[in-house]
Amino acid sequence: MSLDPQKIRADFPILHQQVNGKPLVYLDNGATSQKPRAVIDALVRYYERDNSNVHRGLHALSMRATDGYEGARARVAKFINAADPAEVIFTRGTTESINVVARSWGHAHLKPGDVVLTTEFEHHSNLIPWQQAARAAGATLKFVPLLGVDGEGGPDLAALDTLLTPQVKLFAFTHVSNTLGTINPVAEFCRRARAVGAVTVIDAAQSIGHMPFDVQQIGCDFVAFSGHKMCGPTGIGVLYGRRALLEKLAPDETGGGIVVSVTYQDATWKPAPERFEAGTPNVADAIALGTACDYLDAVGREAIAAHDDQLARYAMDKLSALPGIRIIGPRAGSPRSGLVSFAFEHVHAHDVVTFANEDGIALRGGHHCNQPLMRKLGLASTSRASFYLYNTEEEIDRLAKSLERILKFFAG
Ligand code: PLP
Repeated sequence: MSLDPQKIRADFPILHQQVNGKPLVYLDNGATSQKPRAVIDALVRYYERDNSNVHRGLHALSMRATDGYEGARARVAKFINAADPAEVIFTRGTTESINVVARSWGHAHLKPGDVVLTTEFEHHSNLIPWQQAARAAGATLKFVPLLGVDGEGGPDLAALDTLLTPQVKLFAFTHVSNTLGTINPVAEFCRRARAVGAVTVIDAAQSIGHMPFDVQQIGCDFVAFSGHKMCGPTGIGVLYGRRALLEKLAPDETGGGIVVSVTYQDATWKPAPERFEAGTPNVADAIALGTACDYLDAVGREAIAAHDDQLARYAMDKLSALPGIRIIGPRAGSPRSGLVSFAFEHVHAHDVVTFANEDGIALRGGHHCNQPLMRKLGLASTSRASFYLYNTEEEIDRLAKSLERILKFFAG
């Protein structure tokens, strides 16, 4: 099934505007995606009709809000093929989801001498929580190396064999690198980690809305993702956890809504997912996230992945023709996600982004929350064009033209 981006664009009101007198070209989807009308409508409908607090009310609005919220949980469970909706915990986003595991699981399981394994190309959100958890427990943090001067070789799978010892208690890795575009073999990583008894955590922020994702097929223990990168609202995300693991964990945040019984001195916890959702949850955004799942499944994530791949190949082809460009990540023709990071020797990424903005194009420039990776690549920053289901080859042509203009300006 292929996808018609022109038809899809009609669903996204924000795309139909001019920036600096030019039609907007939105190529910053790695940072956040735009929202289809159906998601915006779901938010408005909730606040106009159903807004109420969940779980604790017996009136009509509270029951409707509760049904909507729990319905969204079941919808997300189906989206990732979780065995049970109770394995879906709503959070604020990927960052909070990873922190919940690092604090709850880390506190309960990590001891001095243990190893937490991750890779050299994680977003800070999948690095700093493990630094903190390892430091608190006296455990060691180790890294699967990245191969190639431009990171084009992907993770060093031979090194992974050596690194995955029985001391490794947890292996946390990204599915898709937000800077390189590398797609990690996540099922393979989980299989190898399981063989040494390590728990796995997948950062699926850049993949979940872009490609099929089946937690049972992948065989992972925890998965973190954000609604706002998959056509859903900001402020809502998910932590998927295998039920057997969640049940043994204490909450990392406590308060109302998570307890069976409370005395002046102590409290006992409800089972997951409530145990991990203290306080009033983000009902409206959870419901709209369910609508985003409907929207993406109606388009088809296989079709989205094929479209991303086609755009990435087209962009690699166009951009590699530019003089002095250094493209980071997998080489042209190799599989990569729908994003391309690049650098010019004599033009700073912030100038690239500023010039592109003059041409109505939204790009991102900086370290992309990947400072250690940037240092490893010998770069201060890159510019990044990241694509999604509504982007077109014509937009990439406009990007290439804009970059030619920048290069001409700086060539003087
Ligand atoms: N992980 C990756 C790979 C990302 O790209 C991002 C955001 O850019 C995050 C984690 C953090 O996501 P959030 O800011 O939605 O928590």
